[in-house]
Amino acid sequence: MEVLLAGGAGYIGSHTAVELLNAGHNVIIVDNYSNSSPEVVRRIQKISRRSIISYEADVRSKTDMMGIMEAHAIDSVIHFAGLKAVGESVKNPLEYYRNNIDTTLNLLECMKDCGVHNIVFSSSATVYGEENPYPYKETMPRGNCSNPYGWTKSMIEQIFEDAVKADPELSVVLLRYFNPIGAHPSGHMGEDPQGIPNNLMPYVAQVAVGRRDHLIVFGNDYPTPDGTCRRDYIHVVDLADGHVKAVEYAAQHKGAEVFNLGTGTPYSVLEIVEAFERSNSVPVKYEFGSRRDGDLAEFWANADKAREVLNWRASRSLDEMCRDTWNWQKSNPNGYNN
Ligand code: NAD
Ligand code: UDP
Repeated sequence: MEVLLAGGAGYIGSHTAVELLNAGHNVIIVDNYSNSSPEVVRRIQKISRRSIISYEADVRSKTDMMGIMEAHAIDSVIHFAGLKAVGESVKNPLEYYRNNIDTTLNLLECMKDCGVHNIVFSSSATVYGEENPYPYKETMPRGNCSNPYGWTKSMIEQIFEDAVKADPELSVVLLRYFNPIGAHPSGHMGEDPQGIPNNLMPYVAQVAVGRRDHLIVFGNDYPTPDGTCRRDYIHVVDLADGHVKAVEYAAQHKGAEVFNLGTGTPYSVLEIVEAFERSNSVPVKYEFGSRRDGDLAEFWANADKAREVLNWRASRSLDEMCRDTWNWQKSNPNGYNN
């Protein structure tokens, strides 16, 4: 298949590109590099030993996206292109709604004009909101999100569901990611946050490598076994494999389907720190701080549907997630700007 990856130079898109190439598909990347770099495309080619086509373009541009879709016989689109920093979305909500929703609408309109019927979307466990009991199941209703980033994902899911009702040709797969961490085992690709990392694993890795002094654990008085929050961390290569299955599924079905991509097992912040220290034999200094606004005490996935329908399951262990993160961080202490 020819698969267009919108936002494909980012953390999840780049790992997905490699797994799609490994599975025998062709990929075309479109990215404006607002949160990534063209170096990522070189790394994808280095790992896969395949040459790929990439475009520097804004997915919101009708002219650019029509030109790209008309130039290639695209079978399916995977839509990663979005802004994703929760705190930033609270400060700049309009930028988040504008970017995340416009990229989606433009992709759907261009796909319709060019006769492309299949799309996989990067959604998030955040759409379950605060009300649903865990583990989260796809049959639960979307809940109230605590920030504009989450609302963009919830609204975009609704947009896709409405578009599918109006177009019997359309096939949509909504993937609700849990907490992707880890890096490619080669050490050539990984997560490269700009500035101070918002997420736990890149922060832990930057403390271990000496770029940050210590981690602040946000709250140790939650009603969890050790008092720190628990999440369902998933290796990014397992997540990428899930996209290969999802895009192959989308090509053979019509309508909209939702899948959780998680492991089904939660780990606490302290368990992550301990696993990172143990598997890499490096110390990670930390202190306890206050709770972060909007954090839920714990949640994790029921991952049965993806196993039963997509024949996919996460197989990589927490130690592998920690080792691969460290391998990437050690070899690229400043990310892609080495
Ligand atoms: P990322 O920021 O690394 O990748 C997103 C890519 O999209 C970047 O390369 C960025 O430059 C590009 N982009 C953004 N807006 C664009 C536009 N208008 N035109 C062209 N390119 C644009 O993020 P990621 O971690 O790879 O996440 C991919 C998707 O998955 C995002 O939609 C994100 O919201 C979603 N998601 C991520 C996580 C996570 O923890 N990483 C969890 C749930 C959902
Ligand atoms: N966390 C933390 N310190 C940090 C970053 C995150 O203690 O510097 C905690 C956070 O409170 C949450 C967990 O780590 O319980 C995962 O946070 P992350 O931002 O990675 O993902 P989220 O689940 O919020 O999307």
